[in-house]
Amino acid sequence: MRSVIIGGGVAGFAVGAALRDSNLGSASVLVERRPSGSPGGMGFILMPNGLRALDQIAPEIDWRGAGRVVDEISLRSAGGAVLSHHPIAPAVCVGRMSFLNLLRSAARTTALREGHGVVELERRDDDDGSTAAVRLEDGSSIEGDAFFACDGAASRVRNMMFPEAQLSEVVVKEIVSVAHAPQLAARLGSTFYKFHDEEGGLAVGMLAESETRVVWFIQFDAARWALAHGGAERLAHFAAERTAGWSPEIREALEQTDFTQSHLWPTRDLPPLAELAQENLALVGDAAHACLPFTSQGANGALVDAAVLQDLLGGARTRADVARAFRLYSEIRRPHHRRMFMEGRRLRAEFLAPMPSGGPCVPLVA
Ligand SMILES: Cc1cc2nc3c(=O)[nH]c(=O)nc-3n(C[C@H](O)[C@H](O)[C@H](O)COP(=O)(O)OP(=O)(O)OC[C@H]3O[C@@H](n4cnc5c(N)ncnc54)[C@H](O)[C@@H]3O)c2cc1C
Repeated sequence: MRSVIIGGGVAGFAVGAALRDSNLGSASVLVERRPSGSPGGMGFILMPNGLRALDQIAPEIDWRGAGRVVDEISLRSAGGAVLSHHPIAPAVCVGRMSFLNLLRSAARTTALREGHGVVELERRDDDDGSTAAVRLEDGSSIEGDAFFACDGAASRVRNMMFPEAQLSEVVVKEIVSVAHAPQLAARLGSTFYKFHDEEGGLAVGMLAESETRVVWFIQFDAARWALAHGGAERLAHFAAERTAGWSPEIREALEQTDFTQSHLWPTRDLPPLAELAQENLALVGDAAHACLPFTSQGANGALVDAAVLQDLLGGARTRADVARAFRLYSEIRRPHHRRMFMEGRRLRAEFLAPMPSGGPCVPLVA
């Protein structure tokens, strides 16, 4: 049986790796819209649930060695005063590109088609609502038995399956960057630092991804500051202006950042869907459950999706088996997505409000 995976992000390669030893993995194809070698983002935190999923999907890889361990969070005022300090279950900060390369090596049985996205779904003639093939931008088609829509938050496939499902409005934007800053990385160690404006609606987070690289981000209330689009100079100016007089770690990170590589992220979540699959086509990762960055669960949720699919599809021999497994996948994962949606909204409301007297809350959801 052939699997067709749409999208080569974390979800797509995790699904490829999860299927590699199954009947569905023998002739799988992954279609990625972006050409090979496109810039690959900054980094994120692999939380314990994502690490467990990775250990299940590809146990031969040392996932904890893929980045830097993070085992403490230091919540601080804008000026750097410690508000609270929390030990956390060990997580790992990874660079997105190096992590994707590892996942890609784990998905070694999956063939790659890069440079042309999926534009259309072709349905089967027998009209049971199942998908027969995908059509690509270059006009070619790929037939399959099982389809995995891993095409991200703005999923085109989701729009075709469930046109009523819409991403929410942008309330918070985020500038994500990497600083080449060995001394700062050494000082941060295994601690995730987050600095907060007392008035709310503005915060800076940073953590070491390696001995030389620090991933950092500014989250801001998009209603207060209308930074419509990026451009290195605008981003650098905005970051410097918003954080003038803040803790010295922030100035150090800014000074050692190449803003041409920075990314302005309009954060949007997806109200929970009633179904995650239609017959032999399932939504995976952000396509199924785009969540707000406050949870740190985007990549981790995608990895858990893939591990669940691995469990459910292991014995699939027919398209009916696939449809049954996808219905179960939908049932199993929907409560988690609902919880992440609610947690993301709760953390966003706290972020936008003036800082409570007890200090800010921990910006991670396990
Ligand atoms: C370029 C990029 C950089 C990112 N950088 C960061 C970061 O630094 N920090 C962070 O926390 N999160 C980042 N993210 C988001 C993060 O990777 C996801 O939230 C999370 O990992 C879930 O992954 P996903 O695979 O579901 O979605 P994504 O990571 O968004 O992957 C979706 C993939 O599908 C491809 N695609 C879209 N439409 C089509 C189509 N029609 N046909 C074929 N392929 C298609 C996209 O090009 C993309 O590669 C980034 C996402 C992208 C695409």
